[in-house]
Amino acid sequence: MDTQRKLEILAQDAQYDLACACGTSHDEHRRRGAGGKWLYPVTLASGGYSLLLKTLVSNACSNDCKYCPLRRGSNVERCSLTPDEIANIFLEYRRTENVFGLFLTSGVTGTPDQSMERLLDTTKLLRRKHQFRGYIHLKILPGSSDAAIEEALRCATAVSLNIETPGRRHFEKLSASKDYDRDIINPLRLISRLTAPGQRYARVKCTTQFVVGASDETDAEIVKYMDGIYERLKFDRIYFSAYQPGLGDPSIPGEQALRRQPGDALLRREHRLYQTDFLLRKYGFTGKELIFDAGGNLALDGDPKETWARAHPEYFPLNANTADREKLLRVPGLGLLGVARLLEARQQGALRSLAAAGLRGRLAAKAAPYLVWS
Ligand code: SF4
Repeated sequence: MDTQRKLEILAQDAQYDLACACGTSHDEHRRRGAGGKWLYPVTLASGGYSLLLKTLVSNACSNDCKYCPLRRGSNVERCSLTPDEIANIFLEYRRTENVFGLFLTSGVTGTPDQSMERLLDTTKLLRRKHQFRGYIHLKILPGSSDAAIEEALRCATAVSLNIETPGRRHFEKLSASKDYDRDIINPLRLISRLTAPGQRYARVKCTTQFVVGASDETDAEIVKYMDGIYERLKFDRIYFSAYQPGLGDPSIPGEQALRRQPGDALLRREHRLYQTDFLLRKYGFTGKELIFDAGGNLALDGDPKETWARAHPEYFPLNANTADREKLLRVPGLGLLGVARLLEARQQGALRSLAAAGLRGRLAAKAAPYLVWS
C-alpha cells in the first residue's frame, strides 16, 4: 500500500477523535479540509484560522472499545505509517497547504507504550531532524506508563487522553480490555499534576473527550465529570463526540437507544453539551446550576442558558444600563461579544435598546424580554 493510500485510510479514521484544537461545529469537524485532504480547520489564539493535519499512526488495535469502528476483530482495512512517512507528508503539506500543526493518534498494538513510542518517534523526528518547533498534539494512549506520558509532555504542544464516559460503571459497558482507573483516570491525574502552574510542563495544553450516547449515561453525569475536569484537573478543554450509529457493537446501550429514538438526537445532544461547556468555561456557571429533565438530560429544544433563565424568573428582568458583566452574561441571547458591546456602548450614556449598542437580529430579540432600560 502506498503512503497516500495509507494516509487516506488513517486520516479518515482519525475523524472520530476531536480532542484537539479543531472546530467544534459539525460543519467544521467532520469533513475534509482543503483539496479533499483530511486537514482540519483550527481557530488560532490570534483569532484566525489555519489547518491541522490529523492522522492515526496505525489503525490496528488490540482493545475492544465497543463504540469504536477500529476495535479488534472489526472488519476494517488495517495499515500503519512510519515516522518517516508521516514527517515527509506533514512537511509537504506545510509547504503546499500552509498546514499549521499535526495531531497524532493511534490504535494500540503491542503494549500501550510500544504504540506511544511510534507517536514519540515521529514527534522527535520532526523536532530534532526537521527542526519543527510548531504545534504537535499527541494522543496519550490509554494505559501508557508514567514515563511515556512524561516523554509526550516533553515533546508536544498539547496532549489529550479521552475519558470517554462519566465513570467506571459506563466504561465497563463499553470495554473489557481497558481499566477505567488504571488506564484513564490515573493518567489524567498525572497529566494534571505535571502540567499544573509552576510545574515543568505547564506550557502543555491538555484536553479530553467524551463519547456521547454510546452508553446510557445522562448529561447530568457528564456535566458532573466536566466540573471535576475543569475544577480539579484544570484541563483546558473538553470535547464531545456523538456516538455514530452503526459503527459500534450492536449490543451497546447506545445502539439500542438509537433503535428507539432514531434521527439526529445525539448530534443535538452533543451540541447542547458544547453549549454547556461554554457556560462552565466562559459564563461563570457551575455544573450544579444547570437544569436537567427528569431523566437527567439537558433539554434538546432550548439552549441550556435559556432553560436556566426560564427556571429563574427572580433573576430577571435585569437593568441593562446598570447590571454588571457577570449578570448580563446570564441573559439568553447575549454572548461574550454582545455583553462587551453593551458595556462599551453604555459608557457613552444611558441606552434605551440593544439596537443602540449595535445588537440586532435573532439573538437580540431573544435577549430583549430579559432586559429593562431604567
Ligand atoms: S483504544 Fe479503543 S477507541 Fe482507541 S482505537 Fe482502540 S478500540 Fe478504538
